[in-house]
Amino acid sequence: MEDSKRKNAIERFYLKCGFATRALHAGEDISQDTRIHSHTNAIYQTSTFKFENAEEGAKLFEHKKHGYIYTRLGNPTVMVLEAKMNALEGRNAKLEQPDKVRISSLVFPSGMSAISSTMLALLESGDKLISGEVLYGCTEDLFAKMLPKFNIETTFVDTSDLNAFEKAMRENPNAKLVYFETPTNPTMAITDIRKVTEIARSINKNIHIIVDNTFATPFLQRPLELGADIVLHSTTKYICGHGTVVGGVVVTSCDDVKDALYKVMVDIGPSPSPFDAWLVNMGLKTLPVRMQRHCQNAMEVATFLENHPAVATVAYPGLKNFKFHQLAKEQMDDFGGIISFELKGGYQAGKNLMDNVHIFTLAVSLGCVDSLIQHPASMTHATVPKEVRQRVGITDGLVRISVGLEDADDLIRDLDQALKKNS
Ligand SMILES: *Cc1c(COP(=O)(O)O)cnc(C)c1O
Repeated sequence: MEDSKRKNAIERFYLKCGFATRALHAGEDISQDTRIHSHTNAIYQTSTFKFENAEEGAKLFEHKKHGYIYTRLGNPTVMVLEAKMNALEGRNAKLEQPDKVRISSLVFPSGMSAISSTMLALLESGDKLISGEVLYGCTEDLFAKMLPKFNIETTFVDTSDLNAFEKAMRENPNAKLVYFETPTNPTMAITDIRKVTEIARSINKNIHIIVDNTFATPFLQRPLELGADIVLHSTTKYICGHGTVVGGVVVTSCDDVKDALYKVMVDIGPSPSPFDAWLVNMGLKTLPVRMQRHCQNAMEVATFLENHPAVATVAYPGLKNFKFHQLAKEQMDDFGGIISFELKGGYQAGKNLMDNVHIFTLAVSLGCVDSLIQHPASMTHATVPKEVRQRVGITDGLVRISVGLEDADDLIRDLDQALKKNS
């Protein structure tokens, strides 16, 4: 008991620390074995846990004693990551209402399992969902094709357009959930999280607002502080940062959401690997320094592209000419590491560029320590119907880069030499 009191006191102390301190320390003591004193948290790569005796086993199952039973129900290595995500996404929400708001996280084996499990947990046959219209390709496929099999209907709307969003809400006042990405993948459109939340709640006070925060990460944007109920991530991207894991996480300030998600975890079984959770937690420790450099490099590369004669348009929230620059400045602490751009030579020019770069790796995914380049229309968003793609701005000539931590000058030289081969 004394031990858990001390742990709680430490967790409370970290809650008041800055982002970098929390990224390094929050949650780390959860898995500490008091006999071993390992400095780095241990990997409990085990499916099951021993009971001291039959009585203890029974107590654990009756929730009369805290402890571990079986990894699908809870694993100390996974819980370290969950506690760290609580401290990074939910700190201010919790500081404002320490007794009321309880932040909980659940780790999943992929971003898509985090998203689909949230839908399974919160929706039933006949329910409606309002979703942003520019989405990660598989998310759009899940909403448009998979959920209808369970008689769940999605209304897609441009959530960055508040009038359009309000209209969609008025037409679907009983919708259970609102779901969107900001910035969106890959058009970088920004949705005003606070305003969307206010509009949605003024029409239906019980609605849950879900934000896919994969592009921004909690270092740049914390939707729970802006009124959202649920934040989710593909941890595959910036949270892990090193391209070693496919993973996901859901963070929520609602106990009912947490309980429903935990039920999905137990009965449907999307439980993460402890080793993967350990790798993600390791990556998360350097999120602040990585994000600073991603943002700095992306700003330099975006400025270079904006001034390049072969480039028609650049979508990067940090550019003053970008449609959503002002909102991004207000809502985010910096502008992130993803840039989309359209070459004047269209798809063929984009293809040439991808085939001629030296440092950028031609690969999907993003948020890696090194730079990646890809073509959304034929790759990440190939599942999105062409007419939808055209309408929302995922044109055939759009190229997306995830700017890594290399020297910015080298990235610019690389793009420059590859663009020259186009002409
Ligand atoms: C990658 C990604 C996902 C899906 O995550 P996986 O880990 O690949 O399952 C969802 N949303 C966004 C914004 C993504 O970039």
